Amino acid sequence: MERPAPARVRTDPSTEPRVTDKLERMAERGVAVVTGASSGIGAATARALAKEGFSVVVGARRLERLREVSEPIGAVALPLDVTDPGSIAAFAGEIPELRLLVNNAGGAFGREPIAQADEDAWRRMWELNFLGTVRVTKTFLPKLERSGDGHVVVVGSIAGFDPYPEGAGYTGAKHAERAFTKTLRLELLGKPIRVTEIDPGLVETEFSLVRFGGETERARKVYEGLTPLTAEDVAECIAWAATRPSHVNVDEIVVMPRDQASATDIVRRPAERTT
Ligand code: NAP
Repeated sequence: MERPAPARVRTDPSTEPRVTDKLERMAERGVAVVTGASSGIGAATARALAKEGFSVVVGARRLERLREVSEPIGAVALPLDVTDPGSIAAFAGEIPELRLLVNNAGGAFGREPIAQADEDAWRRMWELNFLGTVRVTKTFLPKLERSGDGHVVVVGSIAGFDPYPEGAGYTGAKHAERAFTKTLRLELLGKPIRVTEIDPGLVETEFSLVRFGGETERARKVYEGLTPLTAEDVAECIAWAATRPSHVNVDEIVVMPRDQASATDIVRRPAERTT
């Protein structure tokens, strides 16, 4: 299928001439947006997509961190808070055309049984993982359709179909995000937009640090005694799905470490002694 003409991203030429030049040169696959790209899976995905010839726009709240990701790959970094409709509108206003949207921004806040549910944290997880993905996708759908070859990727989780104790605030939001993705696939049938869900198991990123409010020791223990996935492992799955021919819709990829068979079945080995 013939590709539509490469899309361009509007940047301020007085401040970012080099980035604009690079985007125009690199746009052989069109423009890709990655949300939550200031760390972890989003940052690795931005790098993988740039390598594949996408012209990448990255969004997140921490602009300094975002620029550390964007500058080496010639991507455009724009502030984005997916829980704020005004921020999404401003972000989208800078991107006239789009071929690939990777809804990656997400995370967990806390871990406690339902009997002690922290409603404020659960609401924030719902806003970020579910409504954030809904809002960003809804905003970009017309541009994706206009590209003639659009693609929406949602970074879900095995938490989206496999609940675990003390995780219902997060698993509930990820279940909803999965329902959204499956519904979107049905609603877009017949339109030139693919829909893919990527569901990772344990990936060592800042995820656990955020979940446990910066408690490094608690976060470290999540990955103790096993070999978790890296952000790059997940990014490769996303880049692979995004570079299949247009008629191929990779509906779902579930990817876990070999040491993990479900949300609750994880093998941990005692640390090897060095003395
Ligand atoms: P991470 O390193 O903590 O990255 C999360 C990203 O989301 C950051 O770039 C963060 O950037 C961004 N973000 C958070 N709130 C945001 C907001 N309101 N608006 C825009 N961006 C926001 O964690 P990660 O593991 O890479 O997580 C990426 C995705 O993978 C999430 O959807 C997560 O649920 C999913 N996932 C992770 C794992 C895992 O084990 N790590 C497993 C399955 C699924 P700022 O703070 O700068 O905004």
